[in-house]
Amino acid sequence: MNNFEYKQAEDVATAVNLINKQDNTKFLAGGTNLLDLWKYNITNPSGLVDINRIHGLAEIEELPNGGVRLGANFKNADTAYHPIIENKYPLLSKAILAGASAQIRNMASNGGNLLQRTRCYYFYDPDVPCNKRNPGSGCPAKEGYNRIHAILGTSDHCIAVFPSDMCVALAALDALVNVEGPEGKRTIAFANFHRLPADRPDLDNNLEPGELITSIDLPDKGFAQNYSYLKLRDRHSYAFALVSVATALELDGDRIKDARIALGGVAHKPWRSTEAENFLMGKSANEFNFAAAADIILRDAKGYGHNDFKIALAKKAIIRNGLMALNPQSQLPGAKPSA
Ligand code: SF4
Repeated sequence: MNNFEYKQAEDVATAVNLINKQDNTKFLAGGTNLLDLWKYNITNPSGLVDINRIHGLAEIEELPNGGVRLGANFKNADTAYHPIIENKYPLLSKAILAGASAQIRNMASNGGNLLQRTRCYYFYDPDVPCNKRNPGSGCPAKEGYNRIHAILGTSDHCIAVFPSDMCVALAALDALVNVEGPEGKRTIAFANFHRLPADRPDLDNNLEPGELITSIDLPDKGFAQNYSYLKLRDRHSYAFALVSVATALELDGDRIKDARIALGGVAHKPWRSTEAENFLMGKSANEFNFAAAADIILRDAKGYGHNDFKIALAKKAIIRNGLMALNPQSQLPGAKPSA
């Protein structure tokens, strides 16, 4: 490990000022991904700005518009088990609890969850090329072992997936990300926060240099009646999604008034298709229509060999999760899905 300078910030303005004073400085919150990357020699910061003491970032607050503001430093576990989240945004609670391990969720911050980096095997091996780690060096995953890689939104430069579960639910809920940087404060729609790789896979998101996530806003609409988060993975705990689906429905009888479907494990960002969601509006909530929506979502899906199975798996997951959203009780441990 390299030598580095460690500083603590007591407020956001100081943190932003410190991070912009010195190149190659990182914010430190929970550190659950940053320290991994450091140990693997993927990142070597020359400075850390510890933001854990900043007042107001580790809180949860109800907003006048009926929504909820999650502080960036509020822990993933505290978020998932908070009564407001459990009752009003159970989709988010369930997605968070599907991620990582209890120990990691206790340490990981909400802001950090958005900033975690891909778990592509090649990205974590500094002895091989990787366009995300070393732009212009190549992407061995395309022709290599790509079982966990993306099927949607890929580019010739990178086929990595974004690994978060929490963010799949935040995408479905149309969350907003509040940030503060050298140019002031701004709010980013969740759909625009993460990037597709295109020709800059080294950039995971649309934060400007030196910007700090301060909070995440959840809209009033929490879809607490009909929701489901389904995560398919190689083992039941402490594994990243091969495919995950967050489904949120608003129903009028058996008709769909509003639908959100977000996918994880399939792209460089949580994946949504407004075309598929619009298709479902006014239709019956049934297997046939969820299958048609899945076909729209996966129309342009492309496998790279080892991950070809994800296309069929994603279709089945979208259908199954749509049906599970009709009966959220089916998601309780040990309960069987309704289809
Ligand atoms: Fe690197 Fe992306 Fe290729 Fe993985 S998929 S090796 S992260 S460029």
